[in-house]
Amino acid sequence: MMDKKLVPLISQIELAQTVKKLAERLDRDYVDRQPVLVCVLKGSFIFMADLVRQMQTPIRAIEFMRLSSYGSATVSSGQANVLLGLSEKVIVDQHVILVEDIVDTGVSTTQAIEILKSYQPASLKACVLLDKPERRRVDVTIDYLGITIPDRFIVGYGLDADEQYRQLPAIYGLDED
Ligand code: 5GP
Ligand code: MG
Repeated sequence: MMDKKLVPLISQIELAQTVKKLAERLDRDYVDRQPVLVCVLKGSFIFMADLVRQMQTPIRAIEFMRLSSYGSATVSSGQANVLLGLSEKVIVDQHVILVEDIVDTGVSTTQAIEILKSYQPASLKACVLLDKPERRRVDVTIDYLGITIPDRFIVGYGLDADEQYRQLPAIYGLDED
């Protein structure tokens, strides 16, 4: 890790503006419905925390689920394992918003969507901060998208490399030095 170089890609200011715009869109669309927001751990925790603090619409519940597809490798294995489930009763008949840090191959977001759908929400939408469409293997409908980025491994703002760098307030590319 010590010999990797951090290359600034998305600033704190740009992230804040992006999150604010997403929150405004959600506020408009959920003005008469209290949504349940489901954060996919771990990478989305900072996005979720900033997003809910920008939303004015009352939120019925904030829930967490965890999938894992990366382990400590920087290339997706293409398989997402459910590590932490959700109870069906918090999802059934609710207006659910899945909150994701990034969609890359689409495998893990698709799996999260399938799990949530099986709990029969009244509606289900996906709110995604970053989209890396170049490596997509599974079609994913992103209802609320922040920023489209090129195919590059990034860290910061919740995203890690082997659990490091999540605390960085901006987003960086990680270069081998
Ligand atoms: P997917 O299943 O779409 O390939 O990606 C699943 C997960 O891989 C994302 O939710 C995210 O946690 C992680 N991921 C994808 N691309 C990146 C990246 O560029 N950097 C980091 N740190 N994680 C990524
Ligand atoms: Mg994620």
